Amino acid sequence: NKYVYDFEEGNATMKDLLGSKGANLSQMVQNGMPVPPGFIVTTKACVEFLEGESFLVDKIWPDIQKAILRMEAKTGKKWGSGPTPLLVSVRSGAPVSMPGMMDSVLNLGLNRDTLEYMAEASQNRRFALDSYRRLIQMFGEVVAGLSPDLFEKVLDEAKKKNNLLYDYQIPAQILEEIVAAYLHIYESHTHSSFPYDPWKQLKMALAAVFKSWNNPRAITYRNLHSIPHNLGTAVSIVSMVFGNLNEQCGTGVCFTRNPSDGSADLYGEFLINAQGEDVVAGVRTPIPISELRYMMADMFNQLVDITGSLERFYKDMQDVEFTIENRKLYILQTRSGKRSAEAAVRIAHDMVQENLIGKSEALTRVTPREAELLLHKQIGSQVDVPLVAEGLPASPGACSGMIVFSPEAAVQWNDEGKNVILVRPETSPDDIHGLAVAEGVVTSRGGMTSHAAVVARGMGKPCVSGCEELFIDVDEKVLYGESLILKEGDIITVDGSNGRVYAGEAPLVDAKITKELSVFLQWADEAASLEVWANADTPEDARRAREFGAKGIGLCRTEHMFMAQDRLPVMEHMIMAPDKESRLKDLELLKEMQKNDFADIFREMSGCPVIIRLLDPPLHEFLPKENVIRQQLFEMQREKESPAQKKKILEMEAVLKKIEMLKEINPMMGFRGCRLGILHPEIYEAQIRAIFEAALLVLGERKAVFPEIMIPLVGLSEEMEIFREMVDRIAEEYYKSTGIIVDYKVGSMIEVPHSVLVADKIAKVADFFSFGTNDLTQAVFAYSRDDAESKFLRAYLQKGILQENPFHTLDREGVGEMMRLCVKKARETRQNMSLGICGEHGGNPESIAFCHIIGLNYVSCSPFRIPVARLAAAQAAL
Ligand code: ADP
Ligand code: MG
Ligand code: MG
Repeated sequence: NKYVYDFEEGNATMKDLLGSKGANLSQMVQNGMPVPPGFIVTTKACVEFLEGESFLVDKIWPDIQKAILRMEAKTGKKWGSGPTPLLVSVRSGAPVSMPGMMDSVLNLGLNRDTLEYMAEASQNRRFALDSYRRLIQMFGEVVAGLSPDLFEKVLDEAKKKNNLLYDYQIPAQILEEIVAAYLHIYESHTHSSFPYDPWKQLKMALAAVFKSWNNPRAITYRNLHSIPHNLGTAVSIVSMVFGNLNEQCGTGVCFTRNPSDGSADLYGEFLINAQGEDVVAGVRTPIPISELRYMMADMFNQLVDITGSLERFYKDMQDVEFTIENRKLYILQTRSGKRSAEAAVRIAHDMVQENLIGKSEALTRVTPREAELLLHKQIGSQVDVPLVAEGLPASPGACSGMIVFSPEAAVQWNDEGKNVILVRPETSPDDIHGLAVAEGVVTSRGGMTSHAAVVARGMGKPCVSGCEELFIDVDEKVLYGESLILKEGDIITVDGSNGRVYAGEAPLVDAKITKELSVFLQWADEAASLEVWANADTPEDARRAREFGAKGIGLCRTEHMFMAQDRLPVMEHMIMAPDKESRLKDLELLKEMQKNDFADIFREMSGCPVIIRLLDPPLHEFLPKENVIRQQLFEMQREKESPAQKKKILEMEAVLKKIEMLKEINPMMGFRGCRLGILHPEIYEAQIRAIFEAALLVLGERKAVFPEIMIPLVGLSEEMEIFREMVDRIAEEYYKSTGIIVDYKVGSMIEVPHSVLVADKIAKVADFFSFGTNDLTQAVFAYSRDDAESKFLRAYLQKGILQENPFHTLDREGVGEMMRLCVKKARETRQNMSLGICGEHGGNPESIAFCHIIGLNYVSCSPFRIPVARLAAAQAAL
């Protein structure tokens, strides 16, 4: 039952108990690094405290008092008295790092008496006062819950009145006044005096930091990142070191690699004569770390050594906080650095090349969620909108949206369906709800490590920070650029990859796969047992799919080809055909068109299997909408009738009649899929011929072609037998006339529950199965895909009746069980049968993991999801 650990007693493996900050501080002490003495109150203490507050006083206070005494001995300073008073920070730190979401208080132990000792000992009254005013403000905010604005206002007015730009320029006399004003604010708002007794300060701060586990922004953050709410935060109590003494002091943050693009240089920022959060809060725009080399070479070299050794120890990119006090370097925190998705890939890739980690480890370093963000949009090469400002490329990717100046406006406008970009002088953790709904972020102050930048990278949103030439007037809702003035609602485009902000909407283009990503995904393919194929309907989709690494096409929907502008009239004509003869003429035309489409796709996918699904949707989808036609008819009938018009009207009336005929109550369960092919075999035959003729064409170009013909909506083996015979017969015909063998397959979609139950029989006549999990989910649940989500699914999810939307994440218990059964039955008949999935779930990481478990051969998804799917397939196999 130990609640308090000195740094010397902990190590990096104790994150659950000591929090990640505490565990890492302990580890650094173990590794002999310059960390100021300190101790940790455990997460367990926090959890118990939150259950009943007397715990703090009764149970752990004596341990804390003893720990402070040990700290006195280590530092040679005195708690609550002179000659050199001991000051401490009280710092939150959960098992999972939640940067900036909870609270910390610095400079505890100061009061009007210890202040005098501090001034005396440091020979620097200005410094002592600066530390005191920081304590009062932080204590006021964190412990008493006062608004930061109360204090900021006083500070800003004092600076304005005395013509000072920065905090560190404020002289001692004025700081005296500020401290007095701060104490007055504290007292008038809390109706109690600022606590004098350092023990009381410590106790109150500790309780407040425990409670900050449950502040709204921490809760939001945990929800956004799926962090459990019952972990609690540990609290590190650390003896203060001071970066705000003079010009030989400073504080900063650095990353061992660039967190935005992943390149391998020490990356970071610092401020001279500053303390604590000054750097991340974006109060002054900090100095790049590379400058430290020229300002304090000894400090820079030591920092490079220490951070390098931390990275080698943790085998991951580190985010390190440091403070320099009179040219002595202290390390105050290290953690795995948050990074953009791009940087995550680049770093994982480089660390394998550097022999720091192995390939399987590298594959776990990028989450599927990050992989989803990898294919960020980028601004095209032609930019013809004016540049508003340039800042730091803080989080990559590009986006356009309307300017909003507050997180509240961001939320409201987003609810109205608008894309917004949050534009702020700087952002604070309280803005997180606004950041969450914005497309991107622009700030005028703050560096690459500012709060906005860190959070944006975590969310994969473009961010440009530190646009110094922008003046942002939040109250008036106006943005002043160098030569442009923009208002709320105006559209801007943000390019977080190069730090530029444009007025208006710049055209965005799709991302390219970088060299590192391509190597990384290659490793994924080696580790995975599932292959990743693509759903692609056009040659362009196919080319993209191949570029992204698809090993085949798992679904080419032919109806999309019929929807093209030049084809729809022919299709309509075919449906309207009064007899078979004229229908065959239209089909001949359509066949030629499809043949060219297929040939182009075969060329793109040469050497890979291409699954083409025969016509699936009900025919009425190819006819004009009934109300449109009625409206047109109505208008035409009012006009004077010419013979030409008369003919047109007759035609339209015929279409209306046809629509009437095709109308069904449940079209999705009606006359569609292979049922069309049974009643109108000429349609399917034309498509099959188009496939064979295209294959022969491309084979003639000496390219390998592997067409696989897929029959939709099969429920009975009797259906499948008909198509098996049809395809084999046509194949034979082409073979006879050309002497060339086409290596084809015929398979069935599995999307009707009945097909699962007779899968062993269907497998006798099918070469492959592909799960159409959209329709299968619809049928298994009897939820209409088109209506359920807007009508009742949301309520089901809110009430917890369903944990996940089954159309997004494959339902393992029901639909998944059907799939498992089908796999078993299929392989009983045909041991090596190729089995895949081509529904939307094929690109969803959790669903992919399930496909791996039940032993499918491949998943097929839309081209842009291929990188995610390749990574998810690898992680499922690791
Ligand atoms: P967060 O988790 O929000 O980063 P921290 O507990 O790390 O909060 O502290 C906030 C800031 O105060 C950091 O910049 C940190 O480096 C600084 N800080 C914390 N403790 C000390 C200390 N003992 N001496 C000097 N600076 C400190
Ligand atoms: Mg903080
Ligand atoms: Mg910190």
